[in-house]
Amino acid sequence: MPTAHANVIIIGSGPAGLTAAIYAARANLAPIVFAGHMYGGQLMFTTEVENYPGFRDGIMGPDLMENFRAQAERFGTVFHNVDVTSVDFAVRPFVVRSAEHEYTADSVILATGASARWLNIPGEARLRGRGVSTCATCDGAFFREKEIVVVGGGDSAMEEAIFLTRFGRRVTLVHRKASFRASKIMAERAVSHPKIAVIWNSVVDAVVGEEKMTALTLRDVATGVVSTFAADALFIAIGHDPNTAIFEGQIELDKAGYIVSPDGVTTNVPGVFVAGDVFDIRYKQAITAAGSGCKAALEAEKYLEDQEAAHAASGARSEAVPA
Ligand code: NDP
Repeated sequence: MPTAHANVIIIGSGPAGLTAAIYAARANLAPIVFAGHMYGGQLMFTTEVENYPGFRDGIMGPDLMENFRAQAERFGTVFHNVDVTSVDFAVRPFVVRSAEHEYTADSVILATGASARWLNIPGEARLRGRGVSTCATCDGAFFREKEIVVVGGGDSAMEEAIFLTRFGRRVTLVHRKASFRASKIMAERAVSHPKIAVIWNSVVDAVVGEEKMTALTLRDVATGVVSTFAADALFIAIGHDPNTAIFEGQIELDKAGYIVSPDGVTTNVPGVFVAGDVFDIRYKQAITAAGSGCKAALEAEKYLEDQEAAHAASGARSEAVPA
């Protein structure tokens, strides 16, 4: 396969990657974005985004990402809607490969985000798509007037439960503790909703069903009592894991697999920058991801300028050396 060269390659196409693309493209760096086969990041699975500044009445997540992408394309960003299969950050220029492409690059921005966690319990994988889901936006409408369970106690679980009340006869939140870690406003919205019930101190031990899910096995972690809860759908909202498998051995990762970045933009490899949820274990918001994508692009631009200046200076020195 022929190798092409890029000033900047951006891996990932959520708010972080696409903001980096907008900035890099406007800096005339002609960025290449490896967007992944499911481009757009987690907001593609969201309904209304009410807290992204600039949209007074809110905007649907997929619409917001289409806007990001169109804005990046307007300034000449080239997109490949495929997954990167390997990177080599030990060589200069760096190498980035997919099944169809091989690029060398002077700088790379890692913005691959994080993916939904699964419970890894019996029946979960078998009944995935037949009652079990991690995406209320994608699958909620299949469960009109059905009995729905959401697992988790964070903001995602609250958001999914509230969203699912549009469809379900009842939505039951199952949480392993006696209080939610979600923000107060979201938790209050959920517990005060007439269609939402909560089962505290409980975990899901198994998903039950043949052709489709029909029930869950619940266990009260305080008493140890096991019960069967009849339900048609299980939405798992227990957090995310960083998408960093392709970077293992190439860049410093922490124990949980997040990219290590002391300043939230540089990595242990000069010229490789990071943006968004792939390093951010704290904020994980679209706006913070976008902000960090901007920082990564500005740093990449500065890095490339410095490289060019150093190259020019060494060229000038060697020209000055008499033969
Ligand atoms: P969190 O990590 O905040 O919450 C995960 C939840 O799942 C916790 O309650 C945790 O329990 C529970 N959990 C984790 N593993 C298991 C397991 N194996 N079995 C059962 N329960 C489990 O993740 P979120 O995705 O909810 O949120 C991530 C970040 O995104 C947060 O900062 C959040 O504020 C933000 N966010 C903001 C939104 C908004 O503002 N609109 C919407 C969605 C997310 P425990 O509490 O016991 O640890």
